[in-house]
Amino acid sequence: MKTTPLHSSWCEISCAKIEQNLRIALDILPAGSRFCVVLKADAYGHGIENVVPILLSHKIGYVGITSNSEAMAVREAGFGGTIMRLRTATFDEAVNALPFDVEEQVSTVEAAQAFAGLIKKRDLVIPLHLSLNAGGMSRDGLELSITSGRESFARIISLVGDNIVGICTHFPSNLTEELQISITRFHHDVNWVFRNSSLRREDILVHGGSSLTLVSGQKVGTDMMRCGAVLYGLVRQDLGFQPTMTLKARITSIGRYPQGSTIGYDRSSLLSEDKMLANISIGYANGYSRRFSDRSQVLVRGKQLPVLGKISMNTIVVDVSALTDAQVGDEVVVFGAYGEEAINVRTMEDLSGTIMADLCTDWGHRNPRIVT
Ligand SMILES: *Cc1c(COP(=O)(O)O)cnc(C)c1O
Repeated sequence: MKTTPLHSSWCEISCAKIEQNLRIALDILPAGSRFCVVLKADAYGHGIENVVPILLSHKIGYVGITSNSEAMAVREAGFGGTIMRLRTATFDEAVNALPFDVEEQVSTVEAAQAFAGLIKKRDLVIPLHLSLNAGGMSRDGLELSITSGRESFARIISLVGDNIVGICTHFPSNLTEELQISITRFHHDVNWVFRNSSLRREDILVHGGSSLTLVSGQKVGTDMMRCGAVLYGLVRQDLGFQPTMTLKARITSIGRYPQGSTIGYDRSSLLSEDKMLANISIGYANGYSRRFSDRSQVLVRGKQLPVLGKISMNTIVVDVSALTDAQVGDEVVVFGAYGEEAINVRTMEDLSGTIMADLCTDWGHRNPRIVT
């Protein structure tokens, strides 16, 4: 007989909240701007197959990915719209992605030569996006402020100008002044491109701006913004965006321990009085970082309770003395809401020293996902 294993810890994915976040994002999107939903890192750990149906029901026509397996998952989920890669592909990667119809980025002469060869040899149409650095990330965009960059531009246009459908950049900072400088610089570069090539403004999709740009309230003036974080409720909860992932585990045992007991590896915690301690089925192997040792809280039956001692590989210890009714088998929320209470984004970011996107991509890959 086949049995489905009961999970030790798991991520609950709320499709209703993803949809609600999408609605809020579309509401604040500048009139006339398109919206590209970013699905990299398997939809920020949420599972591409869970997010695509929501996009289909809202007629979202553009998604952004980075890897070919993500492109494949997007097509397998039934998405027929435009898939755009958010970084430059290697040549092999671009060839391998042909069955999935991925629009690629180009910013070097080498890549343009490779694409030109491929397009000619196989008589293909591969729509390309010219990626500009615009003084920004210096990741893989073309830097037009230097002579060599402008020379490369001329070569790129002569090789693949006919295939260019978009011009894009990625802003490195969304702090008011820095964003303003980036926006100005990008438009300056885009205008230069149109003055120095036969590309026509009306044929080209000019895109830039991510979640924090969208919520910045600043005028971006691009044809499309590419957003991920807002959809998963990772930023600006004050605007109504809600986290869409809850990380849960269970109480596996409850015991009484006397004053003076130490807890966990290295005896880092000491009981100053008798306590009821619960063992919970999650640890650093599930993405509940060792950095949270002796510092974090969890929710049991809607009550915030402290984690005591070092985080073990697959377990943590929680002081449940404040609860009279805690039981083995109880669900424990280690991130997310339970009724009115929540372990929120701010708390987790402070504890971990990283951003919520880092945590939820990690959790989504290290734990089974359950769609609610
Ligand atoms: C990740 C990414 C985005 C989306 O960023 P969010 O902050 O999650 O909205 C947009 N564009 C590019 C190029 C990216 O890599």
